[in-house]
Amino acid sequence: MRKIKYILVILITLLSLNILNVNASTDAKTLKELRAELQALKNKRDSNEYKKKRTQNEIKSAENNIASSKEAITKGQEQIEEAKKEVERLDKEIFLSKDKMRTLMNSYQKNEGDNIYLEYLFESESYGEFIYRYTIIKQLADYTEEQINKMQNNIKENEELQVELKEKEVELNKNITSLEQSIDSLGDQLDEIAEETMDIKDEISSTQELIDYYKNLGCGENENLDDCVKVKGDTKLLKPLVKGTITSYFGYRYHPISGKYKLHTGTDIGGNTQGTPVYSSANGMVGKIIRKASCGGNQVYIYHTIGGKQITTGYMHLLDIKVSIGDQVSSKTVIGTVGGGSKTPWDSCSTGPHLHYMIADGWYGKTYTSYSTFVSKLQDAKKVLNLPSKYSYWYSR
Ligand SMILES: [Zn+2]
Repeated sequence: MRKIKYILVILITLLSLNILNVNASTDAKTLKELRAELQALKNKRDSNEYKKKRTQNEIKSAENNIASSKEAITKGQEQIEEAKKEVERLDKEIFLSKDKMRTLMNSYQKNEGDNIYLEYLFESESYGEFIYRYTIIKQLADYTEEQINKMQNNIKENEELQVELKEKEVELNKNITSLEQSIDSLGDQLDEIAEETMDIKDEISSTQELIDYYKNLGCGENENLDDCVKVKGDTKLLKPLVKGTITSYFGYRYHPISGKYKLHTGTDIGGNTQGTPVYSSANGMVGKIIRKASCGGNQVYIYHTIGGKQITTGYMHLLDIKVSIGDQVSSKTVIGTVGGGSKTPWDSCSTGPHLHYMIADGWYGKTYTSYSTFVSKLQDAKKVLNLPSKYSYWYSR
C-alpha cells in the first residue's frame, strides 16, 4: 500500500513537471527570454553586415578583372592589326625580291631557255669567266633564297601570332561573360542581404521598444508576459479600410519591381488616396511598430485574441502612424493612414498608394521575434475576411 502511494506521488510529480515543460517551450515568454532573442537578432545583423562587405569586395574585384580583361582585348586587337600590316609589308617585299631577281637574271641572260642559269654559265668564254659567272649565280640565288625564306618565316610567325591573339581574345571575352554573370548573381545576393539586414535593424529597434514597454509596465524579468500583458479579446476581424479593392492577393507571384518569383506576404488593398484612415481589424494591443523601413515603410503590428486564439495583424506602407506600442485598440481605432505613393519616398517597395495587410498566427514580437518566423506563420486574409474578387470594390467593413 505504501509502495503504491509512493509510485503515485512520483507519477504526479513527473506529470506536473512535464506540463510545466510544455508550457515553457510554447509561447510563455518572459522579458529575459525576449532579451536573449534580441541578442540573437543583433548577432545575425553583425554576420549579415560581414557577408555584405565580403560580397561587395567580391563584386569590386570582379569589376576590376573585367576592366583589365577589356584592356587586354583592346591591346590584343591592336597587336593583330600590326601583325596584319607586317604580313602585308612582307608579302610585298617578297614579291619585289622575286621581281628584282628576275630582272637581275634577265640582264645576265643572253638567250631565252629552259635553264637560264646553265645557259648563262655555259656561255662563258674562259674558265675564269665560268668561275666568275658561277659565283655570281650562286651568290644571287643563295641570297635571294635566304631573303625569301626569312620573309616567309616572318609571315608564318606573324600569322601564328594572329591566331594566338585571336584565341586569347576569345578566352578574354569568355572571361568577361562569366565575370558579368558572377556580378549579376553577387548583386542578387547583395539585394537579399540588404533587405534582410534592413529587416533585422528594424526588428532590433522594434523588439527593443517592446522590451522597454514590458519593463515600464512592471513585468518581471522571469514573469510570464501573458500574465503581465492584458489583451482584450474579440470575436472576429474586420477589414482595415472602409472602402477598397484587392490589387494583389497573398501568395507566390512575380514581384512588380524586382521581377522575381517570391511570396507576396500580404493582401494589397488599393482604391484609396494617401492619407485615408486605416483601422485596427479588432480589439487588441499595438505590439510592434517599424518606422520608415526602406522596403515596407511605416508598419504597425497588432496583437489580437480572436475566439481565444492569438493572432497578429500587420499594416505596411503607412503614410503615418497614429498609435504607440502598448496602446489598447478596437476596430474603431485609426492606427495610421494609407501611404506607399509619392508621399512616402523612403519606401522603395511600393509602386503606388495601397495598404499591404497581413494576418499571422501568434504575437509577432512576443511569441517570436524573427521576421522569417512571422512569414512562416502568415495566413491568407482572403480565407479569414470576406473579401471580394480582385478589382471589385467594397464600401463597408
Ligand atoms: Zn503587398
